[in-house]
Amino acid sequence: MVVAGNYMEEDCGNDPHYLFPFQEIDEIEQITVKRPNCLRCKRPERVCVCFAFPKVPVPITTTLHILQHPREQDFRQLTTVPLLQECIPKDKCVIYRGKRFPKSKFAKLHEVCAQTNTAVLYPAKDAVDIKDFVAQLDGEPLQLIVLDGTWQEARAIGHNCSALLKGIPKVKITGSWRSEFVIKTQPTDESVSTLEAVAIALSQIEQIPDFITIARKPLKALCDFQIQHGAQIHESKESLARKGIKYRIFEKKF
Ligand SMILES: [Zn+2]
Repeated sequence: MVVAGNYMEEDCGNDPHYLFPFQEIDEIEQITVKRPNCLRCKRPERVCVCFAFPKVPVPITTTLHILQHPREQDFRQLTTVPLLQECIPKDKCVIYRGKRFPKSKFAKLHEVCAQTNTAVLYPAKDAVDIKDFVAQLDGEPLQLIVLDGTWQEARAIGHNCSALLKGIPKVKITGSWRSEFVIKTQPTDESVSTLEAVAIALSQIEQIPDFITIARKPLKALCDFQIQHGAQIHESKESLARKGIKYRIFEKKF
């Protein structure tokens, strides 16, 4: 069990170990006995989802550079990036953890951000279709920056790193999608998890149109286990708002 300051029920699923937001990491009092986690999928052993991973990693040309908010890895039981990592070759996914990414500590990331074949996956108004961006690379592999955390945290990373990300084209997936990460409240009907956003992007630019199906298998297994253990299926905040239940809907911009 973790004791923390504020508690936002709509973001926590039914996982009693999931509390957000914390005031400051120093304020957290950790008084638990940790459940053993599977070393591969990072899920508790009794709900291991490794059976749902592809037998061999799916080859891709794109390299993912995931800017991950520290809370995402440290405290969330329902983080999706470890599931994504097991679907692709290890060297195609680099994770940088922090709230800010100074050049002194993240020189390699700064090098990547200076390349012309780099784009940020983010559904801003000025984002271009990811397929169009890749088409003009003439076969050069895409370096795709992804912001990982809650929507609020992803926006904070974008804001904190505005100097680093400034000038890097923003790209977006196309089409109408519904998240299958049904045990987590999404801000809007078409908001998807980090795993799903990346999987859809790769489905649209690599020669693997069914990659979204492959990557969603472990996500579905995770949701099924959680539902078996009492988790509820969540509607988006947008959907709840239509019913008169008020939630703040975060703007998709930074
Ligand atoms: Zn596992």
